[in-house]
Amino acid sequence: MSDAEGPITLREFSEMDVERLKGVGEKKAEALRTVGIDNVLDLLTHYPRRWIDRTNEARIRDLLPGEQALVLVTVQAISGRRTRGRPPKSLVTADVTDGSGHLRVTFFNQAWRERQLSPGTQAALFGKLELFNGRKQMTSPIVDLIGDKTGKVVPIYPQSEKAGLTTSDIGTFVAEVLRRSTVRGILDPVPADVLARFDLVGREAAIRGIHGPDGMDEQDRARERLVFDELLGIQLALVLRKQALEQTARGIRHDVSGELVDRFLGRLPFDLTAGQRDAIAALSADLAGPHPMHRLLQGDVGAGKTVVAVTALLAAVEGGHQGALMAPTEVLAEQHALGVRPLLAGLTVGAGEGAGQLFDQRELAVGLLTNRTTAKERERLLVGLAEGTVDVVIGTHALIEEGIAFRSLGVVVVDEQHRFGVEQRAALRDKGAGGVVPDVLVMTATPIPRTAAMTVYGDLDVTEIKTAPEGRKPITTVWERTRPHADGQLSLAELAVWDHVKREVEAGHQAFVVCPLIEESEKLEVRSAQATFDELDAGPLAGLRLGLLHGRLRPTAKEATMEQFRAARLDVLVATSVIEVGVDVPNATVMVILDADRFGIAQLHQLRGRVGRAQLPSWCYLVAAGQSPDAERRLEALCDPKSGQDGFVLAEVDLEVRGEGTVFATRQKGRNDLKLASLLRDRGVVARAREVAFELVGADPGLARHAELLDEVTLFLDEDEREFLAKS
Ligand code: ADP
Ligand code: MG
Repeated sequence: MSDAEGPITLREFSEMDVERLKGVGEKKAEALRTVGIDNVLDLLTHYPRRWIDRTNEARIRDLLPGEQALVLVTVQAISGRRTRGRPPKSLVTADVTDGSGHLRVTFFNQAWRERQLSPGTQAALFGKLELFNGRKQMTSPIVDLIGDKTGKVVPIYPQSEKAGLTTSDIGTFVAEVLRRSTVRGILDPVPADVLARFDLVGREAAIRGIHGPDGMDEQDRARERLVFDELLGIQLALVLRKQALEQTARGIRHDVSGELVDRFLGRLPFDLTAGQRDAIAALSADLAGPHPMHRLLQGDVGAGKTVVAVTALLAAVEGGHQGALMAPTEVLAEQHALGVRPLLAGLTVGAGEGAGQLFDQRELAVGLLTNRTTAKERERLLVGLAEGTVDVVIGTHALIEEGIAFRSLGVVVVDEQHRFGVEQRAALRDKGAGGVVPDVLVMTATPIPRTAAMTVYGDLDVTEIKTAPEGRKPITTVWERTRPHADGQLSLAELAVWDHVKREVEAGHQAFVVCPLIEESEKLEVRSAQATFDELDAGPLAGLRLGLLHGRLRPTAKEATMEQFRAARLDVLVATSVIEVGVDVPNATVMVILDADRFGIAQLHQLRGRVGRAQLPSWCYLVAAGQSPDAERRLEALCDPKSGQDGFVLAEVDLEVRGEGTVFATRQKGRNDLKLASLLRDRGVVARAREVAFELVGADPGLARHAELLDEVTLFLDEDEREFLAKS
């Protein structure tokens, strides 16, 4: 690293092979690659996962039994043997000391520890202190080899036992990079006034501080800055992308003054809520404008998003274009069809040119296109879409990917449920006729935490429906704990809920019973639903009128059952999670969800939204053993009388329980991942980074005057994204 040029950029680091570092030969380079480190930038962003604060370390002498502790020790003796039990295990025992006291450490079935921890080795041990025959002991602690580090704070890196890469190797390599960077320094591309406003340390101080802090507060400050950088990078990419879309894509100026939407709204048996009216106004403005809409419609379960989405589809149809409603799965597509078809039934549209005067109006045509659509129907639909005689089509996102030709696709509504990402949405750009980009409305049927939304949907404008239609009563949610069953079978007759179900039915109301989810196999799920139905019909709910609904039924059979339930000719609907969306029976006041711990929080919240739709008090029973702490946390969150109905609170719990990786499952893998930032812990920073990104891009379109920052943003993008931004 010569001092010929200015400070070193991250791009330069990314172009330096790790093999250029002292001590990194072919073998270590290979080992580094196995943990994802190819170049010096990878190395510098391979952040420690813990820091051992030597100024504040625990002493063996002071430890109490049962306490979790981190101790720095030297190995005095170690030996291994096989136990006599069946099957025999290997047992390695080490005696260690930290000068204040002695500790015995045991490992089961980790015979290699004997080689790893030879006498004299220094290691950090993290584990629970036990007393065994009056001696202090730890069983299978987490071990980090730290070498003879002298700093006050020792970073512990994610290492690889298998590849023979220790935390002390990595620390040494990082230290060398930092030493060699002293002369030129490390470039900081973030404007100084931004750093000053948020009281952030400089880039170089942050990189040095995260790897070799003098104290834990220095490490905190370093982390704060690097987290900001990570989130700012993502937000800049999204805001740039948004800007590029807005500037380059040609959209359709939809006619939003027409009467089709009015006719539709006029026929609804209720008035729109203020939130729905505002959302429709925002959509209309987008639709009427020259640029394609890219809007996210967020709102809790039951907020009434469907009506809003349907108005957008109708606006397209009004002007002679078509609308598509896409769901992430076949089942969800079918459910949407069940929900949307009745809303559109009876609406008429202009029949278009060539039609006789007498027949200048025809029924608005809605099609459902999934894998289950018969070949004949499919053929008919494809012709209709190409000719424009099918106005609205509902299906999975295969709709846009399979090269299906539309006469003029005007509006696409995407029901995401977390499952579509930026890439899938990008496919839409190529779908309109003659280079025209259709308007896109993304609905999240399940709220996700705001910070996650900003990160995953940051290229969209956001409309939020904040309030549910009036008169909704909270749904009393009760966890009926079952005992775990040895054979995995739940005995339905044992449950207490059926009395309540019967009482509700006697009072003239209806109930849902949701069958256990079996994700691996629809066939098994159907079989289990049938068994549940039979068991209830013969036992606990004998005498009530039961219906059964599952995914394997023909659409006509499904529709017929639904209709019977709607018309109250059935008392109880036993169903698989098919009823998650689209079932709308205000007279239903109880829901019983069997094996509720198999569902995720979002899904349970969504399911529960099928009751509590009228002014009647309603209940949801979650039947589950709740054997894992995660399941317990989920079920308790839903039952919380204060926050258990608040989708955003639930979404945060969900994020906590499932981990953050899942939020990004739809994002491209690779560099753009969060390494230090946490969407939960750093939620405030997400908002700040977004604000700064809008400011910077707003004042300097395309970041033309912030070349270094722009270069860094593109460094973290994948090929497609880069190309897209470059084109515009
Ligand atoms: P979401 O998709 O946001 O979860 P839906 O669109 O499925 O919610 O609507 C939930 C229920 O509320 C449906 O039964 C719908 O008919 C009803 N609904 C929608 N808007 C209103 C309103 N303004 N007033 C009363 N009920 C409404
Ligand atoms: Mg809905």
